[in-house]
Amino acid sequence: MEKINNKIQAGEKFFSLEFFPPRTKEGAVNLLARFDRMRLGGPLFCDVTWHAAGNPTGDTETSSMTIASACLNYCGIETMLHITCVSMTKEEITKHLNRAKQLGIRNILALRGDVPIEADDWAPPKNGFQFGTDLVQHIRQTFGNAFTICVAGYPTGHPDAESYEDDLIHLKEKVDAGADFIITQLFFRAETFIKFVNDCRAIGIEVPIIPGIMPIQSYDSLRHIVKLSKLEVPEEIMNAVHPLKDNDEAIRNYGVQQAVDMMKEIFDKGFAPGVHFYTLNREVATTEILKRLGLWVCEPRRPLPWRLAANAKRSNESV
Ligand code: FAD
Repeated sequence: MEKINNKIQAGEKFFSLEFFPPRTKEGAVNLLARFDRMRLGGPLFCDVTWHAAGNPTGDTETSSMTIASACLNYCGIETMLHITCVSMTKEEITKHLNRAKQLGIRNILALRGDVPIEADDWAPPKNGFQFGTDLVQHIRQTFGNAFTICVAGYPTGHPDAESYEDDLIHLKEKVDAGADFIITQLFFRAETFIKFVNDCRAIGIEVPIIPGIMPIQSYDSLRHIVKLSKLEVPEEIMNAVHPLKDNDEAIRNYGVQQAVDMMKEIFDKGFAPGVHFYTLNREVATTEILKRLGLWVCEPRRPLPWRLAANAKRSNESV
């Protein structure tokens, strides 16, 4: 199968979709059905966030690995698995990467992960890694080019960074260590992303940079995500959303148009090869944005395997 970094550079605009692993068996069933519906729009890939603990089936596999494998092997969608190295030893990380490779996963989003909030003097585990760069280096040294590697970029700087400029230098280190492309943290203005791309190019970061966007879908989820990622929402957005705070549908309509306008500007100015969605495991707003951007291709639904067999039997009988 062609590697996604080649497809990203092929010049055709694309989209990709992030999902988090479900916590329950019912959630897993819903998510598989959602993968199947979203597959129809033609995503370049779907990616699954990394949460090391727990699995609805109660086995030892991580929920992220299980759902990424299902996305790839049952739903037939090119899949990227996130891996955070913050609390694992090199051996544990290698074990997960071997497992991913065995399952056919060929794309990894290599992350440090968030340092535990309560740990003022956090240090990585003995024989572990301190930064995303170390993980990228480890993947390249141990697995060569078996994986396409993506890393995270922060258009307003990572919240732990000494400065925006310092963070850019560390992003360049991740790329120099072997990353193939970058997906950004969410942002709210086209100009924020455009400045970031210009700044990256100015210091010699040449890999594709894909804007990560999160459609605004409700007042509470906006506040929650912004708190988690320590981002500031621009005043004009807060002013628009606040009066609608008890009307989820009105907020979603606003969020869809805001995302469409932002991405149109980025595409029109030639600053992105595609767009990445933080879907929060929802589909209505993302699908609507993709349709308005003309990126939803709507492939014909693939017949289910037992239907194919039944159809073949029927046509043999009618001959
Ligand atoms: P790094 O690149 O290691 O950077 C972390 C901090 O260290 C930055 O401030 C950087 O400037 C600084 N730094 C880097 N190198 C050095 C150095 N040599 N010396 C000094 N300082 C340095 N979290 C999850 O738990 N699961 C997920 O699935 C997940 N997916 C994400 C997907 C995307 C696209 C993004 C943008 C974020 C995601 N996160 C996820 C959040 C991410 O784990 C956190 O933002 C984390 O705090 C940083 O990870 P990183 O790989 O960017 O870190």
